[in-house]
Amino acid sequence: MVNERLDICCDAMNCSYNREHKCIASKVGIAGTGAKQACQTECATFKM
Ligand code: SF4
Repeated sequence: MVNERLDICCDAMNCSYNREHKCIASKVGIAGTGAKQACQTECATFKM
């Protein structure tokens, strides 16, 4: 399910969707099948 109103803070400053630690992408995919902690996930929308 997509939450289009979710505010995302992100430290991936080299991503083209990152503005001052805020994600401006309209939708973000989260990868990390079987992850049990946030550090085991990764952003599938990341773009250089
Ligand atoms: S697309 Fe992903 S990596 Fe890029 S700013 Fe948004 S949350 Fe961070």
